[in-house]
Amino acid sequence: MDGGRNLIEQLRRICGDEHVVTEHHALRTYESDGLLQYAAVPRVAVLPGTGDEVAAVVRACHDAGVPWVARGSGSGLSGGALPIEDGVLVVLSRLRRILEVDLANQRVVCEPGVTNVAISAAVGPSHFYPPDPSSQIVCSIGGNVAENSGGAHCFKYGFTTNYVCGLEVVLPDGSVMTLGGKELDLPGYDLCGVFVGSEGTLGVATKIIVRVVPTPESVRTLVAFFDSPGHAGHAVSAIVSAGMVPGAIEMMDNLSIGASEQMARAGWPLDAGAALLVELDGPESECVARFDEVRALCEGAGAHEVRVARDEAERQIFWKMRKAAFPAMGRVSPHYYVQDSVIPRTALADVLDRIADLSREYGLQVGNVFHAGDGNLHPLVCYDGNTEGEAERAEELAGQIVVACVEAGGSITGEHGVGVDKKRYMPKMFTEADLDAFQKLRCAFDPDGLANPGKVMPTPRLCGEVPGPYREHPLEKAGLAERF
Ligand SMILES: Cc1cc2nc3c(=O)[nH]c(=O)nc-3n(C[C@H](O)[C@H](O)[C@H](O)COP(=O)(O)OP(=O)(O)OC[C@H]3O[C@@H](n4cnc5c(N)ncnc54)[C@H](O)[C@@H]3O)c2cc1C
Repeated sequence: MDGGRNLIEQLRRICGDEHVVTEHHALRTYESDGLLQYAAVPRVAVLPGTGDEVAAVVRACHDAGVPWVARGSGSGLSGGALPIEDGVLVVLSRLRRILEVDLANQRVVCEPGVTNVAISAAVGPSHFYPPDPSSQIVCSIGGNVAENSGGAHCFKYGFTTNYVCGLEVVLPDGSVMTLGGKELDLPGYDLCGVFVGSEGTLGVATKIIVRVVPTPESVRTLVAFFDSPGHAGHAVSAIVSAGMVPGAIEMMDNLSIGASEQMARAGWPLDAGAALLVELDGPESECVARFDEVRALCEGAGAHEVRVARDEAERQIFWKMRKAAFPAMGRVSPHYYVQDSVIPRTALADVLDRIADLSREYGLQVGNVFHAGDGNLHPLVCYDGNTEGEAERAEELAGQIVVACVEAGGSITGEHGVGVDKKRYMPKMFTEADLDAFQKLRCAFDPDGLANPGKVMPTPRLCGEVPGPYREHPLEKAGLAERF
């Protein structure tokens, strides 16, 4: 980092000494996000306390030509918040104020470090914020915006992008811009829509306006057990084809049930091939009427047991089983690799068979826990990193799963983003022309390539992807290419 000492002094003046971290051992706190396979220690981490301080930090990085990465809670699963070794990490966890709750207009204005669950807590019990990642007790709303995060209830309610109405954003040159607002459908380009899902490559969100919705009158939850995920998949198709839109339809396979049972102790049968968690919500009369239909459709698809949550406490245990699935996998395997891909619902059985084949071929267990309604798979590839070559085999197997999903008409990522982990697969989904269009958009926000370089796009591009101060590309020098 050229001129690093000056920049660090400046960051100390902006945020205070105690909010600038430079010691190597302390910086290691931030070396990875939730995807531990990637690690890098930044030169400095800075924890601004206000939006103005974020703007001043980003401006200082811009003036020094130093790349930076925004970090919320660091729970991302694609290496999006992976630091740049010679760069600055802008940690947003001190910006955790809810600034306004406007229930009459169903809006909440908050800072980016507010946790997802804190928004529902602030508007409950009359209202709630629907996109609910399983990490909701720790992940920040800023991270949710950057990843366009989803969750169990997105099948019915939609993703983060459907709930973000406005943003205050610090652009990579340190200027501050407002995108969207409290009102819907503002004139002009939908730049708020562009920013959601941009993975920290277009700027830092410092204020976020979200829409909240009334809490449904009634909720009914059941879990049905099947011999195999294929049978449970038929139940999903039957429920959706019957015109029902459950609040959530989540599936867990045998390995995931066994792992979660060790944490949540719900007493689910350990020999079940698959568990399907179905939740209906809405007016009481509708929930009651349709709940029996769901039960019958599950039984028709081969469910050998159906359990209905008798009260809120039991419903919470059902959900604990589902939400514990990722961390619980640590109880059955020393290491695991989280995949995130989407397939058309109708391809569920075929793709799950293909994953089982790959698991046998590579000799590695794969747990499956997923948002079945959205066709959003989360295969958990288990391995022992202490065994020579197993980590590499796991990564290769995970890659084969991504390819199988794309070949089935799906996508390389459902909700965890591209980050550093999936960027190599971008050409499997997009043409050169598509990628160039993405890059032009990125350059319009960040011509110097300082905001989260090295993420999302598959290869370094002339306008921005080279970390550090701008250097002339050899093709430019030869007059064969130009910056745009
Ligand atoms: C156990 C577990 C379960 C999970 N379940 C789900 C799930 O069900 N659904 C789901 O979608 N995800 C899930 N995730 C993934 C993760 O929690 C989400 O991607 C979440 O949105 C990340 O938020 P964060 O605050 O931790 O962001 P970080 O990991 O800190 O950052 C993620 C990205 O956002 C950028 N960023 C962060 N803050 C800002 C900001 N203010 N402005 C601009 N860019 C910013 C970063 O640069 C990075 O690119 C899960 C993760 C774990 C560990």
